[in-house]
Amino acid sequence: MNAFSNSVVIITGGGSGIGKALSISLAAQGALVHLFGLKEDRLEDVHQEIISAGGNCEFLHVDVTDYPALKRAILAVKERHGHIDYLFNNAGITLLAEAQDIEIERWNRIVDVNLMGVVNGIQIAYPLMINQGSGHIINTASLAGIAGYPTSAIYAATKSAVIRLTEDLQLEAEDYGVRFSVVCPGYVKTNIFEGSDRIIGGDMERTLSQIPFKMISPEQAAASILAGVKKNKIKIIFPAYARLTATINRLAPWLLRPISKKLVSDFKADISS
Ligand code: NAD
Repeated sequence: MNAFSNSVVIITGGGSGIGKALSISLAAQGALVHLFGLKEDRLEDVHQEIISAGGNCEFLHVDVTDYPALKRAILAVKERHGHIDYLFNNAGITLLAEAQDIEIERWNRIVDVNLMGVVNGIQIAYPLMINQGSGHIINTASLAGIAGYPTSAIYAATKSAVIRLTEDLQLEAEDYGVRFSVVCPGYVKTNIFEGSDRIIGGDMERTLSQIPFKMISPEQAAASILAGVKKNKIKIIFPAYARLTATINRLAPWLLRPISKKLVSDFKADISS
């Protein structure tokens, strides 16, 4: 029997990218999947794909920054099934820009979605899981949260906070039978880089083409995440270059400086061209 079969799962940001791939894979493994997200057409498409393949899925328009709405949605899942086994706090947004060009509303929104969205999910689901004596909360951070990401500093800061939060809560939660994991992917080819509002001043395609690593697919990312969750890994870092970067960052962070400086100089050159 698969670890996920008949499990009750909530995935935020389930309408695209990694959340979509997670949802499809979990449903294929027999999970009862609840997609929460912002874009109803995308949620509907994923829902349809899962149902057509014989899976079990529901979706709901929920903004993770809207605490009362998120609470209603999570409690409704608990009410319906009696328990929640997995919460994937996956929703996230990014912005590539030099800090002086970012308006305060954008700084705030990134903190609200990437950090407070995760906090909201935890604050609502964790006590329910403590009462159950089981459950697993999986928070999506990023390699950026380990090694940094100049030209996306506020994104990296929120992801560092999610890593710290998860590692500390994991220690608190163990005694209650509740698990915590944090996911730290390198680059994944998803919608997170789509749209002219994801970059200020530069050209997204050109900027992405300067990344020195090959992007993995959302399906590869989902497979790595679920393998890590099954093993109850606390920190799930992938692909291999991300694990290597994390190790270098721990042992000899100055070795990463030239790569980070190049990211900055390429970005500035792009803006001024
Ligand atoms: P994506 O844009 O395809 O998916 C993010 C999803 O979150 C979207 O469906 C979006 O509508 C949803 N979302 C955004 N704000 C929301 C809100 N306020 N409430 C509810 N849903 C909201 O991008 P992705 O790459 O699949 O991102 C998933 C997670 O992975 C994010 O947390 C992201 O930071 C993280 N991540 C991505 C990469 C990458 O290279 N793509 C790398 C490291 C970490």
